[in-house]
Amino acid sequence: MTDSPALPAHDWPELKPGWVWLCGAGPGDPGLVTLHTLNALKQADVIVYDALVETGILSWAPQAEHVYAGKRGGKPSAKQRDISLHLVELARAGKRVLRLKGGDPFVFGRGGEEAQTLIQHGVPVRIIPGISAGIGGLAYAGIPVTHRDVNQSVTFVTGHDQSGETPSSLDWQAISKGSQVLVIYMGMKHIARITGALLDAGRPASEPCAVVTSATTAAQTVLESTLGTMEADIAASGMEPPAIICVGRSVLMRQVLDWQALEAGETPRNLDPLGRGKPAESA
Ligand code: SAH
Repeated sequence: MTDSPALPAHDWPELKPGWVWLCGAGPGDPGLVTLHTLNALKQADVIVYDALVETGILSWAPQAEHVYAGKRGGKPSAKQRDISLHLVELARAGKRVLRLKGGDPFVFGRGGEEAQTLIQHGVPVRIIPGISAGIGGLAYAGIPVTHRDVNQSVTFVTGHDQSGETPSSLDWQAISKGSQVLVIYMGMKHIARITGALLDAGRPASEPCAVVTSATTAAQTVLESTLGTMEADIAASGMEPPAIICVGRSVLMRQVLDWQALEAGETPRNLDPLGRGKPAESA
C-alpha cells in the first residue's frame, strides 16, 4: 500500500483549513475504510491517529504529517484532554486535521468527547462513522450480531470504565436478562469478573461465547468457548487484546458461516447449527 487509491467520481466534501474531521478507520482490514475516510486521508495536513488504527492506511496520505496519539487499556483521561486540546491547536493553526480512530469514532472511542471539546472551542467538525469492531469484527469471524432465530436485541458493553475497572455502573443482572446477545469491548482484562457477573445473573455456563482478536487483520484469531470455560480457555490460548467477546447463541452460527475457513477450503462444520430442521430461508 503506497499509492493513495483513487476515489470514484462524486461530489466529495472538502476538508477545509481549520476543520477537524473525526473519522473511523474500521477494525483493521483496509478494505473496510469508508470512501469518506479515504477522502479525508487524501486532503489532510495532519493525521492524529489511535493505537488501533491499521497504520498501513496512513500510506494513503503521504502528504500529511502523522501523529500517534495512542492510549491502550483504559489509562487515565488526563492524556485524553491533551489530545483534544492538541486537536484544537492544530485547527487554530489553520491545519486540515484528520482525527483517525479505530472502528467507529462514536463507539467506545471517546469521539463524542473530542468532538464536544472541539465545538466548545469553536472548531468546526465533521463526523465520519466507521465499521465498529463489535459488528464488522464478528462478521469476519462468521458471527452475525443479530440472527432472527437467536436475538431481537444486542447489547454493546465495555469491560472497562474510565478508571480501567469493570464498569461498576453496569447492572449486569439487567444486561443478562435484557439481551440475548452481548458484544463486549475491552473485556479481556476483566474477563473473570465479567463472566462471573453473567453467571451470577443466571446466564448458563453452557452458553456459547467467542473471542475474536485482531479481527479483520491478517493476525485475526478466533476462540469458541462457553461462558463457564471462557476465562480458562482464553488463558490457555494465550490470546491478547484487542479482542471482541460475543456471548450468545449467535456464536453457533459460526459453525456454518465461518467464511474464512470455507475460503481456505474447509467444509462447513454444521449446516444447521441452531437445529431449525428447515431451510434458512423459510419462516
Ligand atoms: N471505536 C472502536 C472501539 C474502541 S475501544 C470500534 O468501534 O471498534 C477498543 C476496543 O475495541 C478493543 O479493546 C477491542 O475490544 C475492540 N477492538 C477494536 N479493534 C479490534 C479488532 N481489530 N479486533 C478485535 N477487537 C477490536
